[in-house]
Amino acid sequence: SLITGAGRGIGRGIALELAKLGHAVVVNYAGNAAAADECLQLVRTAGGDGLTVRADVADREDRARLLQATLAAYGRIDLLVNNAGVAPDVRADLLEASEASFDRLININLKGPYFLTQLVARQMVEQVQRGSVGAFGLPRIVTITSVSAYTASVNRGDYCVAKAGLAMLTALYAARLAEYGINVYEVRPGVIETEMTAGVKEKYDGLIAQGAWPLRRWGTPEDVGRAVAAIARGDLPYSTGEVINVDGGFHLRTL
Ligand code: NAP
Repeated sequence: SLITGAGRGIGRGIALELAKLGHAVVVNYAGNAAAADECLQLVRTAGGDGLTVRADVADREDRARLLQATLAAYGRIDLLVNNAGVAPDVRADLLEASEASFDRLININLKGPYFLTQLVARQMVEQVQRGSVGAFGLPRIVTITSVSAYTASVNRGDYCVAKAGLAMLTALYAARLAEYGINVYEVRPGVIETEMTAGVKEKYDGLIAQGAWPLRRWGTPEDVGRAVAAIARGDLPYSTGEVINVDGGFHLRTL
């Protein structure tokens, strides 16, 4: 399996759960080699195998190199997890936010996964067409979005637009790849404790105390990893284009 942005945070949580299943995990990262190396050590300790590959998902050549490195090591790809993503450099009001911030966010969080999925999907279709099936069954694709796919946060519109776009990416690829038996899923986390949310920890601690969502705790990378592991095991065979909320019930409307 190939997990983008797997050195730290949610991606690492996914890598560790897949390692427990015995997956070989390609740990992609953008710049923090120490974190990626540490993740790979943990993957090995958990029973998996793998390698680290530095590649910027926003860069076309890096995306091609990332897939090539995966195929060079394992000769096939059975699971893509589009996880890599960034928060805005600064949270800016919708009426003030810059085009530069928008371009950065869209390139990394939306355009990168869109075209990486295209590249990997072609490879998966080719594997299916030649009748090559891996130990975990037919290939699958998972994209990590966010409650921001449908929750309007006016201080990070670019992030929300990118996540809403990724929700459609899942619908599109689910529709396109169904004829090959390649299922496509969206995993939609709520507020998860990682470095991305470290700067707003107090704000969310307060919201949790007030009961802003039903399960009154932070989500963890393991929570997200376990949802992805259920997909990776093939436990949702008659579901595609499906959204799996991992958000402590944030999406519920209550009265
Ligand atoms: P994080 O702790 O900041 O980790 C981000 C990871 O993505 C790192 O491994 C980083 O690599 C990698 N990355 C960043 N830009 C990249 C690029 N251009 N190419 C390749 N890799 C790149 O973030 P996180 O909280 O785990 O978030 C992971 C995903 O979950 C994101 O898509 C985020 O939007 C989503 N999400 C997070 C939350 C939350 O509350 N934390 C909630 C919902 C959704 P380096 O280590 O090399 O920098």
